[in-house]
Amino acid sequence: MSQNTSNNRIDDITVETLYDIANLIASNNDWKAALDEVAHYIRPIFIFDNLVIYRDNPEDHNLDVFYARAMGRGRSAEADIAWGEALANQVIVSCGTILQEPTPEPNSDRLDQPYILGIPLKLDHTCLGTIIFIRFGGPPFSKKALQLAHFLAIQATLLVQKFNFEAQIKDLQTATRQAVLQENFINIMSHELLHPLGFIKGYATTLMRSEVEWDKESQREFLRIIDEETDKLQELISNLLDSARLQSGQMRMEFQFVRLDSMIHDIITRYTAFNPNIKIEVLSKQKLLPIVGDPLRLTQVIENLLNNAQKYAPGAPIRIKIDQNNQGVELVVTDYGPGISPEHLPHIFERFYRIPGKAEELHGSGLGLFICKEIVEAHHGSITASSELGKGTTFTLLLPYQP
Ligand code: ADP
Repeated sequence: MSQNTSNNRIDDITVETLYDIANLIASNNDWKAALDEVAHYIRPIFIFDNLVIYRDNPEDHNLDVFYARAMGRGRSAEADIAWGEALANQVIVSCGTILQEPTPEPNSDRLDQPYILGIPLKLDHTCLGTIIFIRFGGPPFSKKALQLAHFLAIQATLLVQKFNFEAQIKDLQTATRQAVLQENFINIMSHELLHPLGFIKGYATTLMRSEVEWDKESQREFLRIIDEETDKLQELISNLLDSARLQSGQMRMEFQFVRLDSMIHDIITRYTAFNPNIKIEVLSKQKLLPIVGDPLRLTQVIENLLNNAQKYAPGAPIRIKIDQNNQGVELVVTDYGPGISPEHLPHIFERFYRIPGKAEELHGSGLGLFICKEIVEAHHGSITASSELGKGTTFTLLLPYQP
């Protein structure tokens, strides 16, 4: 018998073994976990100290370490041992298998005697990367071991290809989202800026026409429209300015001690005086400790949430729950309106994001929640939303005692 006995297990390989390996790869969504499982599964059958998969990054054509695992002899000297990077580069360039065997030197350290096998991850004539197996001090790779290594290379190719596809899909999704946001921006600008301007100009011109004498009631109606449209313009411009200041870090916060419970009560008194039909319930059990924050900006956040509830959940009651814990104060604003569908929910805090459809018909810039999030984060707090269609939407704010 010429072969090292520990290499013999490779001869036990059956079709079931190959099936098991392919199944581990195919049935696990997490590719790292799948490779870990395969590495453990093959270890008793197939000797290796190090297993490395390099991926040829399609963006810059650098070789990225996709997966690396040191077992056996490599493990104790993980930081110092070779990972076959030079050979990996050669494999990629030639897109062919390379086997590097040391000249046996008796009494030399095993770590200095690596048998390195590099196999390209080949798909149609493209080399997606390479898989490297390293055995320190042998045994040499037998014919069967080479065959199994090629089988493992095919499995690794599938994983790397899947990874590449997923990365491409992510890039495309980002590009699509950017395009949508850009389109939103243009729509918002043309609608929210030009529309009110058109009204203002139209009614002002009408009022100025010398050949027509308008009665008092019509004059008041035209002036009311001009007044309302000017408010919308003012709101849009101040939202645009706030969002630009927040993005460039130029919004100055005037921090001071704030009692959030009394702040909320003041907001609600003011708010219901202007909107007598709105029902707002406040639940606050305990006397709250003050937080350090900017009262004007925090008021802006709460008012924005109330305005949104009124706009997108008209007629629905609103509930504000105030609580405190070790970290800070928690404000939970819930409306019992139509809710937000799960596909849109993760995006509502993005700049210029508006949910297509019904909400688009209502005036808005898609900046309100973005501004809320930036203000809350400037207080080192957080704001999140949860929603159920047909049931309502909840915004949860956590504001720490000290920003
Ligand atoms: P705007 O109200 O100017 O469109 P916001 O940033 O305040 O912008 O909100 C983003 C989007 O989130 C809105 O266009 C709306 O579709 C949705 N939205 C916000 N609040 C609610 C709510 N309480 N109920 C349902 N939808 C909401």
